[in-house]
Amino acid sequence: MAALAHKKYVSQFAMMGTVISLTLFDNKPALVERVYDYLQTMTNVLSANDEQSTLAKINRQAGVRPVAVDAETFAFIQRALAATRQYQDSFNVLIGPLVKLWKIGFGGQTVPAKSAIATSLQRMNPDDVVLDATQHTVFLTKRGMQLDLGAIAKGYFADRVKDQLQAAGVTSGIIDLGGNVQTWGANPLTADGRWHIGIQDPDESRGEALLTVVTPAQSFVTSGVRERYFRRNGRTYHHILDPQTGYPVRNDLLQVTIMTENSELAEVLSTVSFFKGPQAGQTLIEQLPGVDAIFVRDNGAVELTSGLASQTKGVYQNVR
Ligand code: ADP
Ligand code: MG
Repeated sequence: MAALAHKKYVSQFAMMGTVISLTLFDNKPALVERVYDYLQTMTNVLSANDEQSTLAKINRQAGVRPVAVDAETFAFIQRALAATRQYQDSFNVLIGPLVKLWKIGFGGQTVPAKSAIATSLQRMNPDDVVLDATQHTVFLTKRGMQLDLGAIAKGYFADRVKDQLQAAGVTSGIIDLGGNVQTWGANPLTADGRWHIGIQDPDESRGEALLTVVTPAQSFVTSGVRERYFRRNGRTYHHILDPQTGYPVRNDLLQVTIMTENSELAEVLSTVSFFKGPQAGQTLIEQLPGVDAIFVRDNGAVELTSGLASQTKGVYQNVR
């Protein structure tokens, strides 16, 4: 048996309202810098909260004129809108007007007036977006429309970081964008090359694992209601909003984790599965090859899709 590598190099950056952590198994400071610069640039392009971002420009020009973006960003927005068309009743990246109205997780959060919610719901139709694939322009054709890529952007970044590092010859690693984890290659710290990934315990503070998944490289994305929410008049309102009703989705789920190779897809499916709930969510995930899910209900029950019972992927319950 080959000797196992015994060193890992963990770099952390405070960015995007979270802590981003990059784990490599060789000392490559120049590559770490490159990842940092890339993520910083992308924040400037896609942030929903920065007035200077390209995304803010697209939103300011809603109902006025198209805005040009770089080719990669154009392709990403195109995919985000395609996913919105496919899963419109649950996943919608035109949710911006509603997010701004509720302000959940940003201070000043309120339960908005019904009329304001109704107005926002009129501004979320993907048919009202014009994409020009030759000019790479994005045009939100109605005033008040707003793109919000918050549900999917970290998955896109995780995939790009993985691609860039692989292209630079880095054969394995972990990029963790605040709970959105992408792994690639064989884990040099285990004899079988598999990764041991802890799934957040929704009842504990960040970093406490509910269970551990042992698996070949893939991405892990969790959507949950315990990270950003507020209480008003005995009710809890969290940050995953229903694009049909305009209110936070209500069901008995605390958290959904999606596992699949592509982190951007995992992001879409985590939001969609959250809406569908454990039963319909599981049915959806079972139909998709190479995708697994872990559902955690508010009574503590944990449900897994069938792929997690296979030979190569195992789930280990932690002793609490
Ligand atoms: P987080 O990693 O912050 O928990 P998620 O990936 O679960 O985020 O996405 C939540 C964010 O996505 C919200 O803060 C909001 O910006 C946006 N969002 C909320 N509801 C939806 C929805 N139904 N479809 C698409 N985006 C949404
Ligand atoms: Mg998400």
